[in-house]
Amino acid sequence: MSEQHAPLVSVRELRKHYHLNGGLLRKGVAVKAVDGVSFDIHRGETFGLVGESGCGKSTLGRAILRLFDITSGEIHFAGQEIAQASERQLKPLRKRMQAIFQDPYSSLNPGMTVQQLIAEPMQIHGYRREEQQTRTEFLLEKVGLKREHLQRFPHEFSGGQRQRISIARALSVRPEFVLCDEPLSALDVSVQAQVVNILQDLQEELGLTYLFIAHDLSMVRHISSRIGVMYLGKLVEVAPADALYQHPAHPYTRALLAAVPQPDPRIRNLEQATLRGEIPSPTAALPGCHFCSRCPHAMPVCQTQEPTMQEIAPGHFTACWLFRT
Ligand code: SF4
Repeated sequence: MSEQHAPLVSVRELRKHYHLNGGLLRKGVAVKAVDGVSFDIHRGETFGLVGESGCGKSTLGRAILRLFDITSGEIHFAGQEIAQASERQLKPLRKRMQAIFQDPYSSLNPGMTVQQLIAEPMQIHGYRREEQQTRTEFLLEKVGLKREHLQRFPHEFSGGQRQRISIARALSVRPEFVLCDEPLSALDVSVQAQVVNILQDLQEELGLTYLFIAHDLSMVRHISSRIGVMYLGKLVEVAPADALYQHPAHPYTRALLAAVPQPDPRIRNLEQATLRGEIPSPTAALPGCHFCSRCPHAMPVCQTQEPTMQEIAPGHFTACWLFRT
């Protein structure tokens, strides 16, 4: 496969388990934040990742960037295996993989001006001073800020403007891949659409590839070409965005979509039974389907055997015994 057509990011059986100390009298337990996830992200696409809070989607995104060591599995970036790479080996790849986080206020140093914030990654990666200046001004304009903002500090901006600064900072070193980790969650709805438009315009102009993590399903549909649904550390469905919304397969996906308020009351929800029960503890040893305790369609096999991903339509995969032939 040529590099152009190979996935930019390829993840296989990725696991990130955290071991908790059980104290003096109890054995320690493992929290399976990410538990055997496999998927690809193609160049130039936006892969949306959704799921309830605590499902492991942010841990998965940060694991791909190798912000910490993973427990097991493979991560390929631009054809290079990086799951076990050392920090020295990762350094040249760091500028090719950047991130935008949920809360721009805590991710921006309050003591630095906008100019310093955007230029800092370029300094770290050895850009010349003139190039830093040119690139800073270019990006400032692209995210809709003005030259007069350059000498101001983060606290002088609104939440939406701070997220624009974060985008400019992340793009300063010309990354190919950007992890967008709930970048809209702290913003007003009206501002969310503006930030999405900026991200889409920049993607088109700069050929960026995004992993876009969110719990707002309507915004994910708007920006993503394909979407993955996570539940309790596992991917349970992956499909092209339109297929996922028009023909959701996994009962968990159907329940998530049923919870999205419909602007048109004539449109009936897909799954009348909304989610029941609590999410099981991520430390629990679950032999079968992890969604079993909440699923209205659970069968005996679901309790004992874990379903694996099956392709049920071109490019549409789900892990559910209802779809096994
Ligand atoms: Fe429900 Fe069984 Fe499918 Fe799991 S495998 S989602 S319990 S029907």
